[in-house]
Amino acid sequence: MSKPILIVGGGPAGLAAATALSSVGQKAILVEKEQRLGGAPILSGYAKLVPTGEWAKDAIGGMVSRVETDASIQRHAGRTVAEFTGEPGAFRAKLSDGTTLDVGAAILCTGFTHFDSVNKPEWGFGTYPDVVTTTQVEQMISSGKGVRCPSDGRKPERVAILLCVGSRDRQIGREWCSKICCTVSCNIAMEIREELPDCHVYIYYMDIRTFGLYETSYYWKSQEEFKVKYIKARIAEVTSNGQKLIVKGEDTLVKRPITIPFDMVVHAIGMDPNVDNRSLASVFGVALQPQGFIGKANAYATFGETSRPGIFVAGAATGPETIDDSIAQGKAAAIAAYAVVNGARVAAQAA
Ligand SMILES: Cc1cc2nc3c(=O)[nH]c(=O)nc-3n(C[C@H](O)[C@H](O)[C@H](O)COP(=O)(O)OP(=O)(O)OC[C@H]3O[C@@H](n4cnc5c(N)ncnc54)[C@H](O)[C@@H]3O)c2cc1C
Ligand code: SF4
Repeated sequence: MSKPILIVGGGPAGLAAATALSSVGQKAILVEKEQRLGGAPILSGYAKLVPTGEWAKDAIGGMVSRVETDASIQRHAGRTVAEFTGEPGAFRAKLSDGTTLDVGAAILCTGFTHFDSVNKPEWGFGTYPDVVTTTQVEQMISSGKGVRCPSDGRKPERVAILLCVGSRDRQIGREWCSKICCTVSCNIAMEIREELPDCHVYIYYMDIRTFGLYETSYYWKSQEEFKVKYIKARIAEVTSNGQKLIVKGEDTLVKRPITIPFDMVVHAIGMDPNVDNRSLASVFGVALQPQGFIGKANAYATFGETSRPGIFVAGAATGPETIDDSIAQGKAAAIAAYAVVNGARVAAQAA
């Protein structure tokens, strides 16, 4: 009997890895530091997902239910891995509650941390209550309460969505594109227009990166069907005149300063490396990328290998990723980890 495979992190990548292993009769142990499974889409209360339009609570909630009712997946919520020793086929993990687990391989599905907008103070977050993040707007929509100004609960008449907050920004050490926030912002803009047809929604952008097929179904659709307005701009600051929020910047197409009042300003926040990554790198003995995400040993051979044999990585732990790609990576890493533990078993039987 091969040893179980340890999965760290119960977001889309970790849930997919666990279910994939179970489907081939392989036992898995899932360790999640929060009390609930589901990762960012559940823990942060996302609304309708890109690109399917399914509610996160249904799509990812369904994945959680499948894992929670699967007897071959052992779960340890509210725990982290404190120590990890051994070699491929024979690792030992000690959890934060003192539990010891013997496992054959491990998959790190520890995801990302949302950019904290207080690190961009000139854009008003933390100073003005009606400057919010995309995550907060997702929560307003998923709670059923609708999009409202936090200061007084009124329906906004004018909303600005600022792209690339905490991404593509050398000044604050974040030189990566977070990949999904353009598309998520187009989606949120359409949802606001649908709920509040009289509300004017503007998207301030450096570039629009609604990659692949999302160009038609999000970028063009938001303009042509939902009349969302796009401004190519460099934003200088977000201030207030006491009644309205004021977004100041330069329209970089016509090279003129622009100052426009809004009721609500939304930061399209990016994906930071998980704040735990230094500790994870030290406990598991794996290398990080220069940006702080967990490194992959190669791109095309065994998918998701880290710098340490027998330990794999999947999903947004490796860098900004979408949910569908995180799920695919979780399954790919599950196959690679399965080969490690069952390769060891085949060798033992042959001996
Ligand atoms: C505002 C916003 C909206 C988005 N909307 C969409 C969308 O509509 N469609 C889409 O495709 N993508 C979307 N994304 C991206 C999506 O959030 C990610 O693709 C997805 O969450 C990645 O899944 P994951 O399992 O790799 O990581 P996560 O979802 O981050 O899950 C990681 C899990 O690991 C746990 N964990 C972390 N550290 C530890 C540790 N040390 N020990 C144990 N457990 C740990 C966490 O608690 C968490 O449960 C959005 C992102 C943002 C920022
Ligand atoms: S996806 Fe769009 S908003 Fe997000 S970092 Fe890339 S360019 Fe900026």
